[in-house]
Amino acid sequence: MTDRTGPGQNAGKNDSPRPEAPPPKGGFLDRDPPANQRLRDPPILALDIGGSKFITGLVSRDGKILRSRRQGWNQTAGGKPLTAEGLLADICSAVRDMLARPGPAPAFLGVTIPGLADPSRGLWVEASFSGIRDLPLVSILEKEFGLSVKIENDVNACALAERKFGCCGGPGYEPVDDFLWITVSNGIGGAIFTGGKIYAGSAGNAGEIGHIIVEEGPNARPCGAGHRGCAEAHASGRGLAKNYLSLGGTWTIGGKEPDAKAIEALARRGDPAAMGAYELEGMYLGRVIGAAVNLLNPAKVIIGGGLSLAYDLFRASLEAALKTHVYQNANPQLRVEPSPLGYNAALLGAAALGLPAA
Ligand SMILES: [Zn+2]
Repeated sequence: MTDRTGPGQNAGKNDSPRPEAPPPKGGFLDRDPPANQRLRDPPILALDIGGSKFITGLVSRDGKILRSRRQGWNQTAGGKPLTAEGLLADICSAVRDMLARPGPAPAFLGVTIPGLADPSRGLWVEASFSGIRDLPLVSILEKEFGLSVKIENDVNACALAERKFGCCGGPGYEPVDDFLWITVSNGIGGAIFTGGKIYAGSAGNAGEIGHIIVEEGPNARPCGAGHRGCAEAHASGRGLAKNYLSLGGTWTIGGKEPDAKAIEALARRGDPAAMGAYELEGMYLGRVIGAAVNLLNPAKVIIGGGLSLAYDLFRASLEAALKTHVYQNANPQLRVEPSPLGYNAALLGAAALGLPAA
């Protein structure tokens, strides 16, 4: 993945391995760590918190997922919103289960959270899908389990994972100390890794590239934060589905509302509206990435999140947009690639919180 030839050229690789699917809901994925690792290097307990599910995992210090379990929130059954009490009950129970299993005992718990985090104070500041506000997650979990605990916003954690275990410094890759990570899934988030660390910004919220405007005029859609024409409204999974409909796509696919996966399957069968939606995806992401690259001059831009798994479907239009948006002579170094970490990026990012930076 490192043999790129020019700015925006050959971004990604057609033959890059498709990431592992997440473990089955409620199921365990088990791999025993080598015996010599059990004594010297304790594994790291990792927790990836999402809006509809969470993943608990045991990760070796070189980034191998030894065990993982994906679960839905018990406490939201019946459509109830997730509360801090419900969330804590679920994650404490899952962590207790993981600690009770035979094998090496972890000394550290890394947690990634969706929404705003304040890692220095150990607070989960806010999440759009729940009423959680300023939850002192670090002190609660440290007290409960006697482990050292750190938290980080999930998008920033993905960037840390890419630096530790992925294509910005993982095995077989040159270390990259200036790169941009973009998560493209139900929303769009960004993390700026510069000078060897995450750039947090003055209020800790740098990297909100989902709110860069990519469309103006009558076609600009409103975004959840009150703007119009944001990347999140046009190039997130939901944006992709709207683009598909606007190009004449059908309102249901297999009896369900169209989503990115279903549209991907149609695009691979040559459906014109689905192919057109992915073409627009690349164009919009190219506009966002172009703006960010002109500002930050990163060595790499890594695209993660669910939509990155269909990177080959929007690579051409993304590269075309980059050609017109990036100041090429200032950015001859630029490489754009899909993350090799797939669904595991945030869990590995939680583990990376327990390792020295860079
Ligand atoms: Zn916005």
